[in-house]
Amino acid sequence: MPSVFFNFFNKGSDEAASRGDDVVRMRFECIVQFLYYVTIAIIFFCHAFTVPALVACLAALVQVYVFVRTYRTQSRFTRMAFLVVMFGVSVYYSACFGMTRGFQYFMYLALILILLETHISSDTKVFICAGVILAAIILNALPVLYSHSYPIEAGSTTETRLRLWSEMALAFNIVIIGLSYTRHQVEAERQLFLANQKLKLAADTDPLTRLPNRRAILEVLAEIDRDKDDNISIAIGDIDHFKLVNDTYGHDAGDEVLKTISNLTMRFMDKKGYCARWGGEEFLLVFSSTNGDEAYLMLDHFRRKIGETVTEYEGNKIQVTMTFGLEEHGFFQTTDKTIKDADDKLYTGKNTGRNKVVY
Ligand code: GH3
Ligand code: MG
Ligand code: MG
Repeated sequence: MPSVFFNFFNKGSDEAASRGDDVVRMRFECIVQFLYYVTIAIIFFCHAFTVPALVACLAALVQVYVFVRTYRTQSRFTRMAFLVVMFGVSVYYSACFGMTRGFQYFMYLALILILLETHISSDTKVFICAGVILAAIILNALPVLYSHSYPIEAGSTTETRLRLWSEMALAFNIVIIGLSYTRHQVEAERQLFLANQKLKLAADTDPLTRLPNRRAILEVLAEIDRDKDDNISIAIGDIDHFKLVNDTYGHDAGDEVLKTISNLTMRFMDKKGYCARWGGEEFLLVFSSTNGDEAYLMLDHFRRKIGETVTEYEGNKIQVTMTFGLEEHGFFQTTDKTIKDADDKLYTGKNTGRNKVVY
């Protein structure tokens, strides 16, 4: 039973976050306002205030109409109809019975709801605010200017009842609006956080190899420089004669080889530190808590594994080797300098036969 009740009120709330919340909020507000209008219609009928009673009945019917419409469409028209009725009835009753019977609250409530509408421009909102304030001033001034007395006596049971029901309806409306907007805000912040995470991941990932890109690893390097981390080793690796792979098997085959090497590198560096596609067929490896000797042993083992790995592409078996330059990162050194030293060693490796780790 509770889940049936829950589903009934939440139907359509999984649309766009803000719209969904609007729908649920509208439904609860309609119920509160419906009960409120029916109650005051009964009170008015009991005191033979026929026209105000009929107005309350009409307003209650509008609540039913708006409630039903929230299940068909989520148009602004429905929300505006709700607000116009709330405001209009409030002004009418305040004019008939005075600004102290509780009816006036709904003028301000309607104003708050209009201010929360996102599709109304700020200029229009300022205009509406001025109109509501002016209406409130006029309604307050009327009895003073024309020594007008209202039909319901101040301090009477009827006055107390009317004010009580207005205050109850007002309180429920405030709770509904408050809960709806905090829920909306929390959800919007969560969506924004997830969207930001997705964007960051996309900005940090190389689309071909799915490895972190240069931009991403530069952030890691900046952090190392900032924290003055030592006991770090940095290696830069480059595929040997890669141009030949492209020329022999085609660019797509070259891409496939890059993916194979990237997957191997990612698995190799798992829990060892960070890796990235530094450039075309160059990779940067940052070993955390690893001195140069330790990194050399691991990297040389990895280099041999690369040489043994075969990439199959359109019936061709492609094997490549890699050359690495490795440098231990010194405490007083910047990562820029360490990478430059590693790059110099890579160059040395390329000039002395390739397929080796120069340390
Ligand atoms: P060396 O052993 O001296 O490094 O020789 P090499 O042929 O690997 O080096 P070179 O700098 O002459 O060529 C690198 C090639 O890598 C040229 C370029 O077209 C290719 N390359 C760079 N990025 C990509 C890529 O994303 N996909 C493919 N298929 N090839 C790429
Ligand atoms: Mg190369
Ligand atoms: Mg290169």
